[in-house]
Amino acid sequence: MRLQGQVAFVTGGSRGIGEAIVRRLASEGAFVYATYHRSTQQAQALQEELNREGYRVVFLSADVAQETDVERCFATIQKEAQRLDILVNNAGITADRLIARMTLEDWDRVLATNLRSAFLCIRAATRLMIPQRYGRIINIGSVVGIMGNAGQANYAASKAGLIGLTRAVAKELASRNILVNCVAPGYVETAMTAQLSEQQRKALQGAIPLGRVATPEEIAAVVAFLASPDASYITGQTIIADGGLSL
Ligand code: NAP
Repeated sequence: MRLQGQVAFVTGGSRGIGEAIVRRLASEGAFVYATYHRSTQQAQALQEELNREGYRVVFLSADVAQETDVERCFATIQKEAQRLDILVNNAGITADRLIARMTLEDWDRVLATNLRSAFLCIRAATRLMIPQRYGRIINIGSVVGIMGNAGQANYAASKAGLIGLTRAVAKELASRNILVNCVAPGYVETAMTAQLSEQQRKALQGAIPLGRVATPEEIAAVVAFLASPDASYITGQTIIADGGLSL
C-alpha cells in the first residue's frame, strides 16, 4: 500500500498496459482516475469489477489528443479530489507505414495521440501539482523511440519526443518536488502486438535476450516503482524495460 491516499490519473486505462497500471496503482492504495476513448464497455466493466473489490477507480471518456477533453478530465479531478499526485501518460497508438507512403494524417494522428496528449496532460497536471509541492509524472515511451524501427517513423518520433519532453519538464519542475520520468518498454503482450504473425513473433523472441515479450503487469510494476517513495531521487530518466532487446 505504498500509494495510500494518493490520487492518480492514467490515460488509456481501458486495456493493455494502461489497464495493468490502473489495477496496480489501485491495489497499492491510490484513488485512480483513468481515461478510455473507444473501449466504452471494457472501461465500464473494469470500473465495476474494481469498485466491487473495494478499489476507488473512476473512468472518464476522453480523446486525450484534444485540449477540451483533457481540460474536462482535470476539471473533474480538481472538483472531486482537489489534488493529483501521479500522472501516467500511457495512451498511445501506431499507424505503421514506410516513410515514402506515410500520409500526413498517419503522422499527425500518431504525434497527437502519443505526444501532444502528454503535453496537454502535463500542463494541466502542473496546476494541481505545483501548489501542493508534490507530483510524479510518468510517460510511457518505447524502445522504438531510442532504437528506431522501419515502418514506424511517426511512432518512433513521438516516443523520442516523449523522452525529450521528460527531460525538459524534469528540469523545470524539480524545484517544486515534481519528478518526471519515462518508461520505455520493448515488446509487450497487448492488442498492439497481437497483429504480429507467428513468424514475426518467433523472430522477435529470438532477438530478445530474455527470450519472451513482457506482460503488461511487468511494465505496471516499473510505473508503480517510479510513483512510489522508493523512487524519490530519480528524475528525468528513461527506464528501459525490454528484456534486453536494445542491448
Ligand atoms: P493498446 O492495448 O492498444 O491500448 C491503447 C490504450 O490507449 C487504450 O486504452 C486506448 O483506449 C487508449 N487510447 C488510444 N487512443 C486514445 C485517445 N485518442 N484518447 C484516449 N485514449 C486513447 O496499447 P498498449 O500496448 O497497452 O500500449 C500502451 C502504451 O504503451 C502506448 O503508449 C504504447 O505506445 C506503449 N508501448 C506499448 C508496447 C507494446 O508492445 N504493446 C511497447 C512499447 C510501448 P480505447 O481502447 O478506449 O480507445
